[in-house]
Amino acid sequence: MALRREPHVLVVGGSDSSGGAGIARDIETISSIGVRTCLAVTALTVQTHEAVLEIHPVQPGLVADQMRAALQANKVAAIKIGMLATAEIIVAVAGVLRENLQVLAVLDPVLASTSGRPLLEAGAIAAMKRDLMPLCRLVTPNLIELALLVDTELCVDEDGAVGQGQELLAADTQAILIKGGHASGPRSTDILLRSDQEPIRFDTPRLAASMRGTGCMLASAIAGQLANARSIEDAVRQGKLFVFEKLQRNVAE
Ligand code: PLP
Repeated sequence: MALRREPHVLVVGGSDSSGGAGIARDIETISSIGVRTCLAVTALTVQTHEAVLEIHPVQPGLVADQMRAALQANKVAAIKIGMLATAEIIVAVAGVLRENLQVLAVLDPVLASTSGRPLLEAGAIAAMKRDLMPLCRLVTPNLIELALLVDTELCVDEDGAVGQGQELLAADTQAILIKGGHASGPRSTDILLRSDQEPIRFDTPRLAASMRGTGCMLASAIAGQLANARSIEDAVRQGKLFVFEKLQRNVAE
């Protein structure tokens, strides 16, 4: 069959049997903004909403094969990358991105679950920074991930977090969206950092909601908006609004 011409987001990430996070969330989010998806699974996980019970990484070559087939079958306008599980999978994904530099990639640097289980093997952060981040149009760490990526203490104040973000930016990253969900205060603020531009802040009221998979949702919504030819700034604004509205509905339920 011929190439499918509608813009797609290629979702690269792990499955979560509970449906709270991972590729189920990604597909749900991207579909709900009217963009089609295709898929490369990096790991199978066995999870409830309380715990990650098992992690089974997919063979790296098979991840790359899924990505190449998805790119061949569809007009892929953006790639959303989530859980990668191992350094070898990171290298395989980076290899396919290098062959497709015209496609915008959004990386949610998933390091651990909310329940505390590592979702990326120890020692693989270096590969993520060296091999993958320079190829991504946007990286979306939360404050915990940001501190781990620059190997320093968690910083919940805005100036400290921006300093850590600048450090990551200097390590050959194109743009970073620092997610302020783990900070406190009445507003939830995310900050977009790019080397040649002033930081841009995006904020919404902070809601008393706890919901799994919000990081997956935000990066997916941004990738979906990029596939719809929005600018990075617009895509982030729309993505943040999308997650806020989801949380609002969750509080109301
Ligand atoms: N499982 C998978 C496959 C994920 O991709 C993620 C986060 O991206 C998680 C679990 C963690 O989700 P949460 O922190 O909401 O538990």
